[in-house]
Amino acid sequence: MSSFILRKNNMSQIIKTKAIVLKKVDFSDSSRIATLFTEEFGKMSFIIKGARSAKSKIGMLIDTFNVLQIVFYKKPGRDVQIITQADLIKHHTKIMEDLEKLKYASAVIELLLKLTVEEEIHSKLFIGSEKILKLFNESNDMKFLFLKYLMFITKDIGYEINLESCSICETPFSKTKSMKYNHEIGMMCYSCGKDRVYTNEFSLELFNLLASLSSRNNESRGSDADINRLINFLERFLMYHIQEFNGIKSLHIF
Ligand SMILES: [Zn+2]
Repeated sequence: MSSFILRKNNMSQIIKTKAIVLKKVDFSDSSRIATLFTEEFGKMSFIIKGARSAKSKIGMLIDTFNVLQIVFYKKPGRDVQIITQADLIKHHTKIMEDLEKLKYASAVIELLLKLTVEEEIHSKLFIGSEKILKLFNESNDMKFLFLKYLMFITKDIGYEINLESCSICETPFSKTKSMKYNHEIGMMCYSCGKDRVYTNEFSLELFNLLASLSSRNNESRGSDADINRLINFLERFLMYHIQEFNGIKSLHIF
């Protein structure tokens, strides 16, 4: 653990934690309110007083995609905390220079903003998100990496698609030739699916790609069209299960 918690008194604590900058908005004459995804406490809002002054070091570091080490004085019951110190861990120079990188990195930020709740702890998701931004900065394989991340965040926030056996007759999917899916029932074997309404059809190849996304082995990568299909499928899956989630806008505006 890279952070420490020092008890100042019963009411508040000094916290040192890593954080990814998700969003910043101007506030009053000279300040900014920033939404950060912290390693210790999940998503949190902070006020940075005087952030818009050229002399504000913290203000300069509060920029979307930056990974920071921050220190703040955590007061319980306060919606917005105050950052007292910030140091840069990682600035993703290449993400800002490449529209494709920017598109997928923005989609990651958007998912963290829309799918996590303030102060709900997601340490594993933090590590995965820090890693994906680093990979986007370094590699050119954004779409497939994003698909893997989308599967990862879907699981991390508590939604898992049953990929083991048919939701109706429980036949293992290893014994069926293709699958059909609808949001109410889930994944169905070929026999159960053929007379039912479905939203998605999975060839064995597409199904295996979906099933392999959670494994560390990156061998089955699928075609570009299949990657698009699965991104679209998972986006729809999240929209069906999370009422207030209205899709991944970043994927459509770039
Ligand atoms: Zn079945």
